[in-house]
Amino acid sequence: MTSNPTVGVLALQGDVREHVDALEQAGARGVPVRRRAELEAVDGLVLPGGESTTIDKLLHVFELAEPLRAAIDDGLPVYGSCAGMILLADRIVGGIEGQRTLGGMDMTVRRNAFGRQVDSFEADLDLAGVTDAPGGTPVRTAFIRAPWAEEAGSEVEVLARIPERAADGSGVGAAAGKIVAARQGRLLATAFHPEITGDARVHALFVQIVTASRRS
Ligand code: GLN
Repeated sequence: MTSNPTVGVLALQGDVREHVDALEQAGARGVPVRRRAELEAVDGLVLPGGESTTIDKLLHVFELAEPLRAAIDDGLPVYGSCAGMILLADRIVGGIEGQRTLGGMDMTVRRNAFGRQVDSFEADLDLAGVTDAPGGTPVRTAFIRAPWAEEAGSEVEVLARIPERAADGSGVGAAAGKIVAARQGRLLATAFHPEITGDARVHALFVQIVTASRRS
């Protein structure tokens, strides 16, 4: 197949427009997805940042949770950013009572992990498969009430961790070494938002996963 892949962005809540723009920069056709028929028409799907508890509820209201779970089982490539990473995790710590995830990635995420003091911050991060290309510079990332993964199973490839020290040399406390980007097969997750710092390389990695899955 030679045409550009069509990648949906779940458009129930969260920063949809920014992902559509980043996907287009990365060479895909980005389309919002709110209905089952729209889900069935895409080659891959982005679960945007927003509020995972709200997205969880809306997924059930819009009757998309089960179709989406089935699609993930069936090999649909999905990229989850921030709240989307929470939705892709098999296990969640710090969720609200009754909060569900879609699952698919064998990892435990801690919701709102960075705590109040460091609610939101930006950082330059090395990301396996992205910044290790020749001439690759670190990715500028934005964390907004972000989760991290506390642990991940052997099928999960860790792509980025929080470094032991911040750029200014100060310690980063409990965040040190925590997983903030990971991949398991066709599922990709980042605790941060690459779509708001204008760097489309994470989306390009996802579009590669989508393109490769269309050929198989
Ligand atoms: N804290 C949010 C949640 O639990 C995630 C924040 C985000 O997506 N920027 O869903």
